[in-house]
Amino acid sequence: MKKTQRCWNEKMETLSADEFHAVQSAALRKQLAYVGKNSAFYRDKFSVANFDIKDVKSIGDLKKLPFTVKQELRDSLATQKPLGRHASTGIENVIRVYSTSGTTGVPTYIGLTRNDRLLWRESANRAMWTCGMRPEHIVPLPIGTFFIAASYGEAIENLGSTLVPVGVGATDRLLGAIRNLGANFILSTASFPFYLMDYCEKKGVDTRTLGIKGFMVGGEPGGSIPELRKQVEEGFGAVVRETMGNGDIMGLMWGECEYKNGMHFLGADTCHVEIVNPDTGDVLDIKKGIKGELVYTSLNRECQPLIRFRSRDHVKVIHTNCACGRTGFCIKCIGRTDDMMIISGVNVYPSAIRDVISSLSPDTTGEILIRVDAPLPAVKPPLKIKAEHGEKVKDLEALKSKIETLLREKLIFSSDVTLVKPGTLPKYEYKAMLVEKNY
Ligand SMILES: [Zn+2]
Repeated sequence: MKKTQRCWNEKMETLSADEFHAVQSAALRKQLAYVGKNSAFYRDKFSVANFDIKDVKSIGDLKKLPFTVKQELRDSLATQKPLGRHASTGIENVIRVYSTSGTTGVPTYIGLTRNDRLLWRESANRAMWTCGMRPEHIVPLPIGTFFIAASYGEAIENLGSTLVPVGVGATDRLLGAIRNLGANFILSTASFPFYLMDYCEKKGVDTRTLGIKGFMVGGEPGGSIPELRKQVEEGFGAVVRETMGNGDIMGLMWGECEYKNGMHFLGADTCHVEIVNPDTGDVLDIKKGIKGELVYTSLNRECQPLIRFRSRDHVKVIHTNCACGRTGFCIKCIGRTDDMMIISGVNVYPSAIRDVISSLSPDTTGEILIRVDAPLPAVKPPLKIKAEHGEKVKDLEALKSKIETLLREKLIFSSDVTLVKPGTLPKYEYKAMLVEKNY
């Protein structure tokens, strides 16, 4: 009756390099022609850059076009309500509007036409299937439905799994769904499993008896930090896989397969991605080991297609050929421009610091809090970090010195570490706050 959906889009996820190029190039030409005709914002932008969209023959020509940055979208939305000058269609064709969380200012509004909504669903389904979600799973969603997470809900239903909307701040309801309904696959932020573990401990619930089979985590870097992932996998007896999207582009378009070695790009016909040097904007060749910022271009959007949108997400390419058969390259997210610190000329991300400190488990718990005294990115060394030590540590001075040495060796900056008792630093139900701003 209902559990018949199969969301492995084999054709689009296993394209050869030539096929991929052809699919993306054809979609790009069509998208640019549409945007040039319908978006006042892009018409002006291309004209200022003295650019004729007819000059774009293939995806390789995209680098000739200027970037789009978030502030431009905010300005565009402020200039023209409700959906901005960048919108390519009127509100009469829009069936849903999401707002981004607005962590760095006023929220931006993202409109979806009926086709946009189907495209988002298709892309989310590819990510969910890649991350191991299957029709037999019962999936409680501990995310607020006012953000783009609502699109995850309809994708879960489309895949054929059983959706149980729970929402933020309803952990008892979530535990109820697990115990009474047999909910067993959780889509959440990377912080949530830790919050749930802590919550269960306080309630005297053994997490290994809950029967959770999988966590699909995203929304923040952290899901791929090996020691933290191990804590969740062992704590629940469940598998952790990571996913990622971008609120302005598409709910989800990255997913980690059973080989658990980074998230595959699953866009193909739905969006294009470039990796650029965040300082120079130069496009980098996608190969193992490169690091840079993701830049997205919509390929099939109707309401607000974006061209070369700077995501501010910084990633590392883990590999480009995977035994699962998917041909999209695999990445790990290492941080965001907004979180980046520059300490004595070196770029450092809070999640990288957490990665290094958690590698000393069980002497550390992996919980940290960085304190900065002035606006980022420049930070005067030594960086002040609070870190929880493990239960059984005896010599705190030696551990402090070990952490400071390791941070200097791995991330090339000097630190001043204060060790605090396990369980002292806050656990976050939504997203972790790793930086405390003391100014
Ligand atoms: Zn794979």
